Amino acid sequence: MRYIGEASVGYPLIVPDEAGQDCLLGSKCPGCGDVRVPPRRFCPNDLAECEPVHLDGHGEIYEAVRIGLAPQGFEAPFWVGYIDLDGGARFFGQIGWSEGESEPRHGDRVSMSVEVVRTDDLPVMGPVFRKAVPNAAH
Ligand SMILES: [Zn+2]
Repeated sequence: MRYIGEASVGYPLIVPDEAGQDCLLGSKCPGCGDVRVPPRRFCPNDLAECEPVHLDGHGEIYEAVRIGLAPQGFEAPFWVGYIDLDGGARFFGQIGWSEGESEPRHGDRVSMSVEVVRTDDLPVMGPVFRKAVPNAAH
């Protein structure tokens, strides 16, 4: 089992915080406050050296798209999108959705859980963002 980030940036992007809660590993610029996931060593705005931060995965959907034709290792249909994390970064990831549930859309509050996001020879654990409070009114 691998964690998201190990095959792309070379280290896991999901790490436990001091309380053992799964968090996303990011960086924050001490100068302008820019937050990024995956973390950057230097700020892309002012080249200041960034500090590591943990983001708890709470946020809001910026945009969501339904994937109807799955690439190898994924099962269609599923949703992906950009999440505006409360900590400040915009993160692209899977959005959890079940048949019968209202479709994810801009402005929905979500929280992160760590689940299997890819199921082929080398399964990958990654963040899945689900609606924080189910809302039947949509
Ligand atoms: Zn900066």
